[in-house]
Amino acid sequence: MKFQKNDVVIIRIEDMSQTGEGIGKADGYTLFVKDTVIGDLAEVKIVKAKKNYGFGRLMRIVEPSGKRVVPVCPIARQCGGCQLQMLDYGEQLRFKEDKVRNDLMRIGGFEDVPMEPIIGMEQPFRYRNKAQFPVGCDREGKAVAGFYAGRTHTIIPCRDCVLGAEANGEILSGILGWMEENHIPAYDEMSGEGLVRHVLIRYGFTTGEFMVCLVINGAGLPAKKALIDKLCGIEGMRGITFSSNTRRTNVIMGDKDQKVWGDGYITDHIGKVKYQISPLSFYQVNPVQTKKLYETALEYAGLTGEETVWDLYCGIGTISLFLAQRAKQVYGVEIVPQAVEDARRNAELNGIENAEFYVGKAEEILPELYEKEKVRADVIVVDPPRKGCEESLLETMVQMKPERIVYVSCDPATLARDLKYLCGEGYEMVRVRGVDQFPMTVHVETVVLLSHKKPDGHINVKVEFGEGEGKVPLDNIAKRAEEYKPKERVTYKMIKEYIEAKYGFKVHTAYIAEVKRDLGLPMYDAPNAVEELKQPRKHPTAEKVEAIKDALKHFEVI
Ligand code: SAH
Repeated sequence: MKFQKNDVVIIRIEDMSQTGEGIGKADGYTLFVKDTVIGDLAEVKIVKAKKNYGFGRLMRIVEPSGKRVVPVCPIARQCGGCQLQMLDYGEQLRFKEDKVRNDLMRIGGFEDVPMEPIIGMEQPFRYRNKAQFPVGCDREGKAVAGFYAGRTHTIIPCRDCVLGAEANGEILSGILGWMEENHIPAYDEMSGEGLVRHVLIRYGFTTGEFMVCLVINGAGLPAKKALIDKLCGIEGMRGITFSSNTRRTNVIMGDKDQKVWGDGYITDHIGKVKYQISPLSFYQVNPVQTKKLYETALEYAGLTGEETVWDLYCGIGTISLFLAQRAKQVYGVEIVPQAVEDARRNAELNGIENAEFYVGKAEEILPELYEKEKVRADVIVVDPPRKGCEESLLETMVQMKPERIVYVSCDPATLARDLKYLCGEGYEMVRVRGVDQFPMTVHVETVVLLSHKKPDGHINVKVEFGEGEGKVPLDNIAKRAEEYKPKERVTYKMIKEYIEAKYGFKVHTAYIAEVKRDLGLPMYDAPNAVEELKQPRKHPTAEKVEAIKDALKHFEVI
């Protein structure tokens, strides 16, 4: 049967997609329905009908699933930030474990996944230490703060999110009151006018400290004293800053922040380590689970005090300092300069002297240091953003042959892709564990331990050479050996060296990747559209493109 838009059907939800939509079938036609959970019998209106599948909107639950619970938040459905709030928490954990296992099998090609039980939370609400509220106007022109309704830019007023700190509401009320009393307009996305765009709040769980940053569409903040008066009385308030962002984009923060009052950071502890965090640095949003995440990473790293450890994508040095307590020496690499400043200060704050940090892209810093200074590692820890690691970085990691690699990932799909590479180059997946850093959402964090494979032991085989039955002819041996010789993998480094030797100039890894991509070669480092937009790259000159193509021909890649 063919369905059309606006048709209404009753379906049983039989499965759930990785983004949390319920999946059911109407006469064999697959429908994805937000806000449903596995087991629901639901009345659904088709909102988009494609040839082989469609999307439905939940109209009514005819018969609720036994796995369904009443969401704690009254606007959970409109907001869309918590895709799983109506699913029992135990089921959420199962969903996440399956997601990790499925990606490792489907994308990574692993048959056996050595999964350990996912680490969940005892109290899966009010876990976030960071909140970002967009500010805008309602129909009457009054300033409101809240959340974007799922996939739109309409703001649903809400001063209290059940995932965040309770004091967030008081802080927002103070800011909205200050705006009203001082006639400070909210930003209007359509016209690009108005001042206050976003309110960012950070909270230190172990210290009770708050820090507020206003993102504004302008160079300066008016009525500062009135704002300070409104906020500095709130218990735990440590600092107020603002960040100027006059661009008409979806990017929330400006490039830097300026102090209005108090300190430019808050302090928090994870285990025994103390961290100072400034507004622009990355800091894990769920401190309770972060402790368990880092403990798992530390356990997987198997440190005895003698190891040299590299912590790539180290942020403010959180994992680095955690590991430094048990390693001989830790080196961290991070792209955001402020985060590295935080990392260095944090090392000092904790009296940790065996941690050193580098600013820059992990995929550039590590290959360079390895080539020039032959740096080495017993253990490498990586914790990349969602897009995972660049191939050139994985290549260097493999060349460095650390005993163990601990991969901390917030995206099972790119994790699976990267593990496939590493396990094709001499590593073995030994342990895998999910950590629920983001209860109520579909996101999951994973820690994986890879171990360097030892060469297999010897076996003795008796062979008789010569002509005749059961004997191996001598002249065939060389030929067969040639056939069985594994083909050398063509690395970025080989291409670079070839070009430098033949043409006398250097080419950047990114250029080789670009030429490979343009040629339609199987691209390992999948282009990430968002990232590309944020950092437009220069393109290689025609001369370099030709040299790269020549090298690819030389190595029989094309
Ligand atoms: N390990 C840290 C941070 C993990 S988040 C923690 O647990 O807190 C990932 C970090 O990688 C962010 O700090 C981000 O700024 C950084 N980053 C993103 N791209 C990078 C790159 N190409 N090279 C190095 N760091 C990068």
